[in-house]
Amino acid sequence: MSWFADLEQGPPIEVFALMKQFADDDFPQKVNLGAGAYRTDEGKPWVLPVVRTAEKALANDETLNKEYLPILGFEAFSTLSTRMLLGDDSPALKENRAFGVQCLSGTGSLRVGAEFLATKLGKTVFYYSKPTWENHRLVFLSAGFKEAREYRYWDAQKRGLDIAGFLQDLKDAPEGAVIILHACAHNPTGCDPTREQWAQIASVIKEKKLFAFFDSAYQGFASGDLDRDAWTVRYFVQEGFELFCAQSYAKNFGLYNERTGNLSVVLKSPKEIPAVKSQITLIVRGMYSNPPSHGARIVNHVLSNNELFDQWRSNIKTMSSRIIDMRKRLREELERLGAPGTWNHITEQIGMFSYTGLNAEQSQHMVKMHHVYMLSSGRISMCGLTHSNVEYVAKSIKETLT
Ligand code: PLP
Repeated sequence: MSWFADLEQGPPIEVFALMKQFADDDFPQKVNLGAGAYRTDEGKPWVLPVVRTAEKALANDETLNKEYLPILGFEAFSTLSTRMLLGDDSPALKENRAFGVQCLSGTGSLRVGAEFLATKLGKTVFYYSKPTWENHRLVFLSAGFKEAREYRYWDAQKRGLDIAGFLQDLKDAPEGAVIILHACAHNPTGCDPTREQWAQIASVIKEKKLFAFFDSAYQGFASGDLDRDAWTVRYFVQEGFELFCAQSYAKNFGLYNERTGNLSVVLKSPKEIPAVKSQITLIVRGMYSNPPSHGARIVNHVLSNNELFDQWRSNIKTMSSRIIDMRKRLREELERLGAPGTWNHITEQIGMFSYTGLNAEQSQHMVKMHHVYMLSSGRISMCGLTHSNVEYVAKSIKETLT
């Protein structure tokens, strides 16, 4: 008898299964547009030069040791992270009513925040955009939420935002529901609300007494400008909201594997901070006890040094500019080849991902027939495109659609 004999096989996680399939494929022209990780124009992973510099300095710093960080992490790092998100003149910082908690990248920050909301504030219902990053649902349900609901977001017909549906679904949400919002560079659609639309969204969230939980996985990576990409969160803070924001350093620092993130917490008053911090401390203590230091030290080293900070911004610009260039190139190729349909959405979208408009069957055809690996939703990562493969990808799309 085995305790495990009756266990059902769980479904595969699509993106990881696809990556395994890609690795096993020996077709010479295969293209990986599935992975959410930056690649150079040679198709190689990139360790940011500023990260190398910081790592060398840390390796030579004999004062550092390997002892535990506090449960809420490296405080200098989380303070700088929260400042980077909220901006130097944030009212919440001036009034000492915001703080950060170092967590395990973006996912871990979402999980700690969600578990706090579910177990300490008794929240049961959360909303995510339709579609969203595929992990939101699992993270929030695993954290103790009871009910997952979607708000309308993507209008497949017009290949853009369904703002009317979005606002209506928020209006119909029960008081106190938690709304997951992508701070910028919406994953998977690459389609963000305009500032005017954000103002409408904020006004419904206020009126209906909902709780905004931002997911900021792409600050700086979307437009190349850290402040511009943080506009939405700053706007909500200015409007007086209490909110959470999960920040990831996977993409903008290239620290995918270091699991470096921060949960920024903005409250109405500093009075509430001790109780909130103490409850988050208990959650982290019971979950993983304390976070790892390496990535947080790298980020802290860079954010606290003006010269390195400028270098980092220039590294971010390198990445975001390459993505913007690839959007242009892909659209040009598709239009030049006369691929059926319109392709302006490719350059209008922002961030790492693009919703091509290909359906599940067409996306699978791209994988099977052309060895171009993409998700069945039609999502592609712009980072997998290079000057050498963009024409091949465009031809494959054209063949698939004709
Ligand atoms: N949120 C969104 C929207 C993402 O796209 C990602 C990564 O792809 C994450 C969160 C979290 O990533 P990580 O846990 O690696 O920081």
